[in-house]
Amino acid sequence: MKSKENLIFGLIGFPVEHSLSPLMHNTAFKELGIDATYKLFSLKEEELDKFFKELRLKDSPIAGLNVTVPYKEKVIKYLDVLSPYAQKTMAVNTIVINEKRKTSGFNTDGPGFLVHLAKLGFNTEGKRVAILGAGGAARAIVSVLCLLPERPASIKIYDVDKDKAQYLIDDLKTRLDMAIVEAVDSVDDLNIELADLLINATPVGMKETDLCLMEEDIIHKNLLVYDLIYNPAQTKLLKMARNKGAKVSNGLGMLFCQGVLSFQHWTNTELDDDVKNKMWKSLTGGLKEW
Ligand code: NAP
Repeated sequence: MKSKENLIFGLIGFPVEHSLSPLMHNTAFKELGIDATYKLFSLKEEELDKFFKELRLKDSPIAGLNVTVPYKEKVIKYLDVLSPYAQKTMAVNTIVINEKRKTSGFNTDGPGFLVHLAKLGFNTEGKRVAILGAGGAARAIVSVLCLLPERPASIKIYDVDKDKAQYLIDDLKTRLDMAIVEAVDSVDDLNIELADLLINATPVGMKETDLCLMEEDIIHKNLLVYDLIYNPAQTKLLKMARNKGAKVSNGLGMLFCQGVLSFQHWTNTELDDDVKNKMWKSLTGGLKEW
């Protein structure tokens, strides 16, 4: 990272107003004495060309970005270099801009998810994974699980649009060994009653009125139910899973872990536990443990 003053980092997406990322990143900048601010850039698609053109200018203060829905794939054409994992998943959520204004793209969603799974004590090797949703988040998670030496035994994906789940598999298959991954026709075909890990990678559960995507009786106590949603902190799915004695996690841990990895890419530093704990507290309004 260059030593210029008043550097700008930020999140591009649409919409972005709901984002919690400024809380954690601005805390880290403060703790580390880095003169930088993390901002939100709400961009319409037709504004992307101009944004990336201006990013190239010598006097641009922007040194790093996060990317969210709906641009994780669309930003790739603006980047000079992709990390090996971003090349596999073909989705970018982190951009580093160097002093020569060259741009490098990374994906920390998948690795962030894995770091949090490890923190929860979940070992992926030989496990049966069921995923709801085949969008951007599922793409990052499926690809990182398929790249692991500790590969799961199986990954089943259900999306309301089966073609979407099949497209995800077919696309990743051109760059990754996807033999363990299968698109299924219904929630029943996910075989949740036999699974070890259930991941909700749909937005279903964010609204109070959303119905739960499955019946309570297929949730069991040997299951880890990981809901990528973090607002609300406890979705109906997580409440139901907790009642059935399953282990549960919302998406805040993943959000935090991907953010830490992004920050480390931008600053080329390893964050120590003290700074990480302060970032976590700012994100959660005071929760101690992540
Ligand atoms: P996305 O690209 O829109 O993907 C969501 C997918 O779920 C879409 O394919 C959608 O299909 C499908 N879907 C919607 N309703 C469904 C249903 N009833 N049953 C099965 N599939 C259904 O969104 P995303 O970026 O992957 O994000 C998914 C969720 O993860 C969001 O809640 C997001 O906030 C969360 N997330 C959390 C983190 C974190 O760090 N914790 C990171 C990324 C995302 P249609 O497109 O046909 O509706």
